[in-house]
Amino acid sequence: MKNNIIPVGSVIGIIGGGQLGRMTALAAANLGYKVHIYTPEENSPASHVAYKTTVAPYEDEVAIKEFAKQVDVVSFEFENIPHDSVEVLEEIIPVRPRWQVLHIAQNRIREKNFFKEIGVPTNRFYEVNSLEDLKKGVEFLGGDKALMKTVELGYDGKGQALIKNGENLEEAWESIGKNAAILEEWIPFEKEISVVVAKSNDFDALCYPPAENVHKKGILHTSVVPANISDETRAASIDIAHEIAEKLGLRGLVAVEFFVKQDGGLLVNEIAPRPHNSGHWTMDGCVTSQFEQFVRAICGLPLGAVDILAPIKMLNLIGDDVNGWEEIVKNPNAKLHLYGKREAREGRKMGHVNYITYVSC
Ligand code: AMP
Repeated sequence: MKNNIIPVGSVIGIIGGGQLGRMTALAAANLGYKVHIYTPEENSPASHVAYKTTVAPYEDEVAIKEFAKQVDVVSFEFENIPHDSVEVLEEIIPVRPRWQVLHIAQNRIREKNFFKEIGVPTNRFYEVNSLEDLKKGVEFLGGDKALMKTVELGYDGKGQALIKNGENLEEAWESIGKNAAILEEWIPFEKEISVVVAKSNDFDALCYPPAENVHKKGILHTSVVPANISDETRAASIDIAHEIAEKLGLRGLVAVEFFVKQDGGLLVNEIAPRPHNSGHWTMDGCVTSQFEQFVRAICGLPLGAVDILAPIKMLNLIGDDVNGWEEIVKNPNAKLHLYGKREAREGRKMGHVNYITYVSC
């Protein structure tokens, strides 16, 4: 391996078999890499397009070791892999990003403390391990609303309970399974934005332009680029994303999600150390897609340009939305991306569409 570069033709190992792994495998193939997916799921979206797939639990250290021997670098499309498994990987091959990055992103309390330590603005919070803590947390935070989230394994609004006027505490505590939780100050935000930042070896980190995101029931619904925000807010979001990437010692991608306050000020909500749903617009609206960038970053290649090609809106297809595919393909400016999932369960991400505003010439 020259200068830490994983040359084209090598095999990239990806932990996780979902749509992010699938789109990474497609981008990797375009660059001449092969992708080997590791997932506990049979017939996973990524396995349909990957060079190879290992189906085994994330805790299976024997299978993890065997997988590591067959790949040249490892990254993740799913960050909740146990430490012992990452240690096994790290003994054999380069793992990007490194364990510390996953460790922070796996736990909402660690994540918030990290933001505080590096001086990045985030919302106030209280650690909850019992009903008693929850009562104290509601008093500590004040206000008429607060949001309780499980500390680990929550995603797409799952494992969350809204507390109103401190009234429904027992019910809320039950609803999240009495698991370790974080109680967050409720933010009456003006809007939400996110920035994906990439870092490869010794090259400068690069930030994609912020996307403006709308969530429904805790799940991303649309992302619009360019975001309708002031130049100051745009610049501040990019500065913060750079700061986070640097302090993490990042190799790979990190998506930083922000709340934009009424005065244009920013609070970091959370980070994800991988390609992100709010970066899917880059597949059709940017010089370099986030998936190609991810491959470049973990393989130590120079990064691609992050300029916007045209204004664009990404719409997620959740559950039954996917049944509208026949209408969508009738629109010549709609770029449809489906993930090959058979069952359109409620709340399940089945695909997305990028609607491009082409500039005629
Ligand atoms: P999360 O899983 O933390 O990304 O939360 C999912 C979505 O819930 C966010 O994108 C917001 O729309 C909303 N949300 C999360 N935390 C808060 C908060 N503290 N105040 C207001 N809305 C929130």
